[in-house]
Formats: sequence, structure tokens, C-alpha cells
Amino acid sequence: MSTAAAPFDVTRVRRDFPILAQQVNGHPLVYLDSAASGQRPNAVLRAVERYETHHHSNVHRGVHALSQAATEAFEGARERARRFLNARSRREIVFVRGTTEGINLVAQALARPRLGPGDEILITGLEHHANIVPWQMVCEQTGCTLKVAPIDRRGELDLDRFLGQLTARTRLVAVAHVSNALGTILPVERIVQAAHSCGALVLLDGAQAVPHTAIDVQALGCDFYAFSGHKLYGPTGIGVLFGREELLEEMPPWQGGGDMIRTVSFEKSTYNDLPWKFEAGTPNISGAVGLAAAMDYLEGLGIEAVAAHEQRLLALATAELSRIPGLQIIGTAAHKAAVLSFTLSGCHPHDLGTILDSEGVAIRTGHHCAMPVMTFFDIPATARASFGCYNTEADVYALVAALGKAREVFG
Ligand code: PMP
Repeated sequence: MSTAAAPFDVTRVRRDFPILAQQVNGHPLVYLDSAASGQRPNAVLRAVERYETHHHSNVHRGVHALSQAATEAFEGARERARRFLNARSRREIVFVRGTTEGINLVAQALARPRLGPGDEILITGLEHHANIVPWQMVCEQTGCTLKVAPIDRRGELDLDRFLGQLTARTRLVAVAHVSNALGTILPVERIVQAAHSCGALVLLDGAQAVPHTAIDVQALGCDFYAFSGHKLYGPTGIGVLFGREELLEEMPPWQGGGDMIRTVSFEKSTYNDLPWKFEAGTPNISGAVGLAAAMDYLEGLGIEAVAAHEQRLLALATAELSRIPGLQIIGTAAHKAAVLSFTLSGCHPHDLGTILDSEGVAIRTGHHCAMPVMTFFDIPATARASFGCYNTEADVYALVAALGKAREVFG
């Protein structure tokens, strides 16, 4: 019996995503914006519908059957997320709204109480605003300093300079696992090891990594890992913050309210166990259910198989776009995820995006919430095509053809 993996059947995968069957502006939809948000497969849509139709009630402490069913579904999703990340314990899995909220939680509950003047937080020059602004806020609140390790013209982290900026003053290192604007995959194992040897804690922003890479937080050794469900073919409004149990245990809660308490009196309240201490208020229950289904779906396809498929598309698109006169690819790192940012001379990215949309090709244009990256490359914006498990070579050729039309218009 052969043990070879079945070839990746993208035609079958596409049938799982009903949204892709539609026409946009009279053309079949070519969806090249998965880095902004992935589409949802039937498995996720059905799991959410099933939950909402048959099992919904509020979670925790309910004695009636529906509340118990909802609690089981929600806590089952937590166990699913634990397995997805290979975390040691469910206590390390905090449900949040998304990457942004996960990073803000660490900023306010870990960094703010612990850091002060003389302390440093180290990030890189390619971060998303979600991994910049929360740290700037902490600096304003505590007097600590934000340091930024530079990138080079290929969009790679200058590792030597990064290592040079790591000192005994560095208390926290917060870096993207994969850059959303450039596609760069960062050497996170090396970063974690170097940061830890200086005594700094490490948060990884995994928003762009989770759809393309199997994540093992124990192997990575990071202290925190944050990601959003909607980049992973799951619902919006749900994400996960992984945190090492010892750290989460020591951290004070960051939002107060129902569910995060054990006892409340007007004199003093005591807090719930992990992870509920960080989950004040009614959570996004159906979102968690949908996220768990998305994890099942992606692992069912095989994350490595999906990544290999996307890498083939990235290589094809890179080769095809490189041939277009006046087109410049922004972000040419040696190791990239399925993100292709570019500019076309004489054509503002927004105009380009509009022309492509009229051809049914959905790309993203703008600063991609990474204004410092645009400043570094001295451009106002880029056009960005990004690939997911459902994209095809035909999608790449549709992009190339639509870019040809744009060139005719802007001559
Ligand atoms: N970090 C990165 C690298 C991202 O790509 C994004 C989403 N574009 C975020 C953080 C923020 O994610 P969310 O908006 O889902 O919180």
C-alpha cells in the first residue's frame, strides 16, 4: 500500500467554499485577498449554523441542558485550539476577538504593570499596526522605550542588528511570525532563543502564519502567540491568545466583569481560574465553534499540503508578475508566505485595485496597516495579492490578464 499523500485537489477544495462560485462585475470571482480575511468552507458555516440552531445558550454555570451544551461546545473549541497549537494545557488558551485584542491583552496585563523607565520593548520594522500601537501605548503609560529592529530592502529582518539591539534592558520582544505586507517569514525560533538568553519574554503575532504553517508553541518556545480565526477560514470576532501558564497566572486580569470573577463584594472581588480570568463577559461562543471547525478543516486538508500548494502559486505569480514592465515586487525575502505586494509605475494602487475589481479580481490595496513599511520603501501603498488553499493557477493568470488591462488604461 502506498503511503504517498494524495495530490492536493484544489477543484474539490473550491467546492467547499460556496462564496467562490459567484460572479463579480460580470466575471467569475478571483479572490486574492485571503491575507486580509480568508473565506469560510461549508464545514465552518454548518458548524456555526448547527450551534446557533440547536445548542445556543449562555455558557458556564447554567444548569439547563442548552447551557451545558453551549459550554461543552465552547470548552471543546478551547481543547481544539490547544491541540492546534500543541499547548500544554487548556489553561493557556484564552479566547479573544482576534490578534489585535490578544496583543493588547499582553500589553495591558503583562507589560503595563511590569515595565518602567529604562525598560525596553523590541519589535521589528515590518510589524502590523496591531503589533506597534499597543506597545506605544504601554510606553506612554509606563515610561519604557520602544526599540525597532530594522529590515533591509528585501523586506528581511536584519538579524545582526536585531541581536545587537537585544540587551539586558529588553523586557519583551514582539514580532510577527509572518509579515502581512511583505510576506516575509521571520526566523522566530532564533528570535525566541536569543530573546530568552537575554531574559526577555517573546510574543509572536501569528495572524499571517497560522493558515500556512503548523504551529507548535512548545517547539517554538514563545511565551505568547496570538492569532485571528478569520485568517484561518474561521469566523470574524474570534481569535486565540496562547500564553505560558506561569505568566498568565501571575498577570492581573485586564477587563473586569462577569465570568472572570470567583467572588464579588463591594470591598473586594476575587478572580476566576485560568483561562476565564481573562474572558470577561459573554464570549463569542458560535465564533469559537466555527474556529474549531476551521481548524478541523485545515488540518483535514493538511497544512503542509496547503502551504506547498500556495508556494507553487506564489512562485508562479512571482515569475509572471516579474515579467510585467513597470511592475515592482515589494518584499523579496528568501522565505515568504503566500503574499505578493507590488506597485505598477504610473498607476496608484487604489486605481489598480478598482480596475482589477472590474475584472472580478479581488486584491487589497493600501498600506496594509503597516505604514512604517510603506515609509521604509518610500511608497504610499502597494497592491497585494495573497493566496489561500482555494486559489488556482487560473487565478494567477486572471491576475496577470487584469494587470494587462490596467497597463492599457494607464499606458
Ligand atoms: N498582525 C498581522 C500580521 C495581521 O496581518 C493582522 C490582520 N491584518 C493583524 C495583526 C490584526 O488582526 P485582526 O485585525 O484580526 O485583529
